[in-house]
Amino acid sequence: MVFKIAKIGSKRKIIDAPALQDIEPFKYFFDKNGKLKIDELDAIDGAWTRREILARYLFLNVVLDQGPDIPGVRDLLKKVTNALYRKEIRIFHKPLDFFRELNISIDEILDKHKSVKKLRAKTWAKLNNANPSKYNLFFAQSPRGIISINQVLDYGLHRWGVPLCVPLLLEKDLGKKESVQPLVEYIESFLSSETASKEIKNHKRYGLGSAIGNKACHLFIKWYIHTFNLSIKKTEGWSKWSYEVPFDSNTGRVLLRTGFFLSLADLKDYENWNVIQKGKGKGGTNYIRITNIRGKKAQIENIDKKISKNYKDIVLNHLKTRKRKPTTIEIQQLPNAILLNSDFGIGDFDDGLIYIGINFCFNHKNPKCNKCPLNKICKGFNKNKSLIKDYRT
Ligand code: SF4
Repeated sequence: MVFKIAKIGSKRKIIDAPALQDIEPFKYFFDKNGKLKIDELDAIDGAWTRREILARYLFLNVVLDQGPDIPGVRDLLKKVTNALYRKEIRIFHKPLDFFRELNISIDEILDKHKSVKKLRAKTWAKLNNANPSKYNLFFAQSPRGIISINQVLDYGLHRWGVPLCVPLLLEKDLGKKESVQPLVEYIESFLSSETASKEIKNHKRYGLGSAIGNKACHLFIKWYIHTFNLSIKKTEGWSKWSYEVPFDSNTGRVLLRTGFFLSLADLKDYENWNVIQKGKGKGGTNYIRITNIRGKKAQIENIDKKISKNYKDIVLNHLKTRKRKPTTIEIQQLPNAILLNSDFGIGDFDDGLIYIGINFCFNHKNPKCNKCPLNKICKGFNKNKSLIKDYRT
């Protein structure tokens, strides 16, 4: 199943990724077919490499992506970026410009939010069974998860300002040293992309802290290595198996319904771990809180010898999260071990999950199983319909 999903993903490389080619200051970075010119990523644009500028944009994008309505969020970021650059406020080339011209930055966020709302509110309301007037991309974190807020300064400074401050601080900290890509060098200073994903949030000086969640950190690494091919390091620690899947709601739904999770632990285990929260989903269904799966151990005794050997290699040499041979397997790292040394990486697997989640495995009781490419091997479809009916993300 893991191979099949990765194969599906590999055929659709750019899935659900930001359309960087539509950002005006980046238009020369792409060819006429909208393909990123990878061999020109080291070309200098202003004071920085193209690789650095794109990494800065994705760094901000991934933080904003945690809000509601991803197409709206991406449109907002695109529109604000284009508007600011037209006014010579070059926030990715000179992050300080965002703060120096704070009145204009805030005005543009408010103005473009209005136009995105006009375009997206009805579609969003239909998909979420909500009132279009409630459409709001400004958000904050609460103990219950993401909540909407109305204060543009809170949103603008916390969600836009913090990720813009990271390259700014790195640049200031250079002192007399020279660099044309301080953010890139910082990200790739870690032994593995998995450790980088943790430090993006937790680093004492440069960490984004509460501005970013675990999933978004992994999504940034996936974009950086797999989707946009920005990484320079070619070591095992930066391989296509060197980071965990950025588990989101699509991933959770597909992997539960197909039976993948149930082959590693039973429903009771997932309930005890709060991965499945009984009766807390829409209409009294069971809610799948996929983020709670990180760190949970597979409850199986006889693991295939090859997978077990691969897992050791993954943990010690690719993820580099442990120093000693592992005695148990963490569920979220199993796809890495299965795919190791194959043509497919974690990015392909995640692309496949998103493709199936968005196009077939809808978050309601009637997904498009008849057309789904996994229908021959899906446990929910073939054996246990309650996995479809009774679980939501
Ligand atoms: S067959 Fe149905 S339940 Fe299974 S993954 Fe596909 S859409 Fe989801």
